Amino acid sequence: MRDETISIHAGYDSDPTTKSVAVPIYQTVAYEFDSADHGAALFNLETPGNIYSRLSNPTTAVLEERLAALELGCGALCVGSGMAAVHYAIANLVEAGTNIVTLPQLYGATVTLFEHVFRKQGVDVRFAASDNAADVERLIDENTRAVYCESIGNPAGNIADLEALAEVAHRNGVPLIVDNTIATPILLKPIRYGADIVVHSLTKFIGGHGTTMGGAIVDSGKFPWTEHRKRFAMLTAPEPAYHGVIYTEQYGDSAYIARCRTVCQRNTGSVLSPLSAFLLLQGIETLPLRMERHVKNATRVAGYLGTHPSVEWCQYLADVNDPCHALAKKYLGGRGGSFLTFGLKGGFEAGRKFYDALKLIKRLVNIGDAKSVACHPASTTHRQLTPAELERAGVKPEMIRLSVGIEHMDDIIEDLSQALEAAVPFLTESVIPPRLVAAGF
Ligand SMILES: *Cc1c(COP(=O)(O)O)cnc(C)c1O
Repeated sequence: MRDETISIHAGYDSDPTTKSVAVPIYQTVAYEFDSADHGAALFNLETPGNIYSRLSNPTTAVLEERLAALELGCGALCVGSGMAAVHYAIANLVEAGTNIVTLPQLYGATVTLFEHVFRKQGVDVRFAASDNAADVERLIDENTRAVYCESIGNPAGNIADLEALAEVAHRNGVPLIVDNTIATPILLKPIRYGADIVVHSLTKFIGGHGTTMGGAIVDSGKFPWTEHRKRFAMLTAPEPAYHGVIYTEQYGDSAYIARCRTVCQRNTGSVLSPLSAFLLLQGIETLPLRMERHVKNATRVAGYLGTHPSVEWCQYLADVNDPCHALAKKYLGGRGGSFLTFGLKGGFEAGRKFYDALKLIKRLVNIGDAKSVACHPASTTHRQLTPAELERAGVKPEMIRLSVGIEHMDDIIEDLSQALEAAVPFLTESVIPPRLVAAGF
């Protein structure tokens, strides 16, 4: 079926016992065993079923199945936040002495996790010099466990060449992990281009209403773990953290995601609540519709800002002048998403004045909400980064990031217009329109 239908139906038919058409919220911690033998079979992973909600929950399972269907995966694990998903996706494959190789431009908390958490635990994170697959390949060695990237970088808005990265990763015997939060499976399905594992912050577009934190890891089921037995012994040899199970034998294609659940989630406990799973399922039902409107509105806003005399630069992926335009055409079908960045002439000060003058557009650090929101990364999401880290992450000091919502587009433009007016006195002289110079500015 198509995305619009999958988004509404995948993972759930009416409830067999109550006939409830909406997905029930199974607000329970534990599940009763029929007998001691039944309980033992569940613990031995011989019978599928629920034991305890730190391992699985029926409401969350619907969300997992729906996300796996949208992302073309064989299975998914939902967790308490996007950062938990990023963490588990990698923690499932690494140990002290190993490394991962990543593209340089990433979400702020992901950079901090990589630079300051993983490294202290003895897992080296190697940032490639650029987005080029050749620069990534140079850093891969026999201790590398994965290549990591964001399909659309947040906030830099760069697009990863997934096919080239997958090729390099596979040639060197490691999986490609892709954070697909900004693109969503509606605009891009990374597994189609060779990604092995996809992670999401469900907090953003997928939930879509700024109400609920959540994350997901989707397994393509395609990476040949057994061909690289030594490198991936946690999946191909007996696992002491789950009484000696060999994941590739017990779970076949789903080995990776099964271990993620039974080792990472079971023992470190980032769990999505059933109520959150329900709210995120509500969001997913309208994801394809919302993305259509997000893209339409953002395209108009990019056109408006891109030609505005007060705007120094505006980066939108669908723009023919954008450095990622060819990649946007290939991977996003020319759709630029809902996300754009720009800087005012007059730099940091003009940008701050503009930011303070916004009325409809909310000042906050979230994206993917039905509401239009604006953020100044250098003073918020990325403020803990050093100047060098900021530059590598593609964050300029004056940069404003807009996540264009699904309000009426004229109302969005009118708010931008009045905020740009408010910033005019702070623009550099050369760009003040002659009529304002004449009026004494
Ligand atoms: C927001 C975000 C995350 C983290 O997600 P949370 O749900 O806030 O933990 C990770 N990656 C990207 C690209 C994001 O935009």
